[in-house]
This record gives sequence, structure tokens and C-alpha cells, in this order.
Amino acid sequence: MFIHRPDPIHQVRVDTPDPVFAEKRLEQFGGATGELSAALTYFTQSFHTEDQGIRDMLQNIATEEFGHLEMVALMIEQHTKRARQGAQEKAFNSTLFAMRGYGPHVMDSRGTTWDARYVNEGGSVVRDLRADIAAEAGALATYEALIHQAPDDGSREALRHLATREVAHARMFMKALEAMNKLDDPIFGDLKPDDTVDVYFNLTAGPEAERRGPWNSEPDFHIRDLVPQAQRGGGMGAGQHVRHSPSRK
Ligand code: MN
Ligand code: MN
Repeated sequence: MFIHRPDPIHQVRVDTPDPVFAEKRLEQFGGATGELSAALTYFTQSFHTEDQGIRDMLQNIATEEFGHLEMVALMIEQHTKRARQGAQEKAFNSTLFAMRGYGPHVMDSRGTTWDARYVNEGGSVVRDLRADIAAEAGALATYEALIHQAPDDGSREALRHLATREVAHARMFMKALEAMNKLDDPIFGDLKPDDTVDVYFNLTAGPEAERRGPWNSEPDFHIRDLVPQAQRGGGMGAGQHVRHSPSRK
């Protein structure tokens, strides 16, 4: 069940009403990477696992995402209602709120209505959690873009909280996969892979064909060159491999 408390999960304060920014904020209300998509995704996925702990986590995060949806709604309301009544009426009239009225609507920043195809769920909790990590990355990228365009400190602070929570969720999904030994292992279900499971098909012509990183190196991967020797080109000799150095904090 759900219990409603009429106060947001985190403080919402809009210092400067800006209807043009509110239109961008619709991305987090009715957009593909928005809070409605996240809430319905995790809620639906929770019924795909019999692990009660993971089910609880997915339903709890889904409920938090509804709390985020409420925060986004309150901010869009403040950015539009106060603008329409104030000095920014001209800007208000340039947005889709002039036709739809102030406050949030179930559409993205371009006015495209929300689509159930934004809900990424497929019946296997491993498959779902993998999609969730990507979904949180999409939400984080959208929030970063919004933070850069935020017109006031109050909006920026609320956005920073919302973005931070998406980082926390991604870490929880990673921990859940790790608990199932599935964080590093993409195989799940009944698949018996064939003998190409550790083969890197090298289909690159030219000197770039020699580039190596952990994703295409021994001992994890064996190279199978499918480009004829004559077309592979020269230039980058053996030993001049590009090394991958992930930046970690
Ligand atoms: Mn969220
Ligand atoms: Mn999230």
C-alpha cells in the first residue's frame, strides 16, 4: 500500500520563477529518463523476483521515485504559476504552458506525451537490474544538463539532491547484482554459450585494428582477425598499443 504525507521528501525552493526552464524540467516529469518512468519501471520489476529483499528494495526505490516526481511537479508548478502572475508572463506565453496551463503535464520538454515504452522491464531480475543501471545513468545525465541551466540556487540545490539519489540507486542495483554474482557475469538464464564467448572479432581495417585494451586482450579474450592481412594496414606496430586507464576517484 502507499501512504501519502503532504510534504515533499526533500525541500523544494524556487528563488526565480523561469517558465522556459520549467519546460526543460518536464523532461524529468513526463520524459523517457524522468521520474515517472523510473517509478513505474522499478515497481513493475519488483514482481519479477522472489527474493524478498530485492523486491523490497525495488518497491522502496519506486516509492522514492514517486517522491522525486512530486518534487519535480512542485518545482514546475512554482516556475510556471509564479511566472504567469509576474513579470515573466511574456516568457510564459512562449512555452507550452501557455496552451496547457501552469504546473506539470505528462509530457517531455518538447511536448511529446509520456510513453509506456519508457518502462524497461523484462521478467528477469538480472536483466532488469542491468537495465536499471543504464536508466540511472540516463537520469543522471539529464539532471547534469538541467543543473547547468538552472536559473537559481534553490533549483540547483534540489536538482543536486535528485541527481545524488540516482547515483545512490545505481550503486544499490550494482550491489544487488554483485550479491547474485552477476555484476561481472553477463550470462543469466539457461543459455549454454558456444565457443565464441571469449572471442573478440576484429573487424577493423587499418592501423586501428591493433588497438588493445582489457576489452580485447588475453587472457580474457582471444583475437580472431576477420579482415584479410593485406587490408589491415600498417603504421602502428606491435607494442604501440593504446592502454585503457579508467579514471577513478
Ligand atoms: Mn529519481
Ligand atoms: Mn533513481
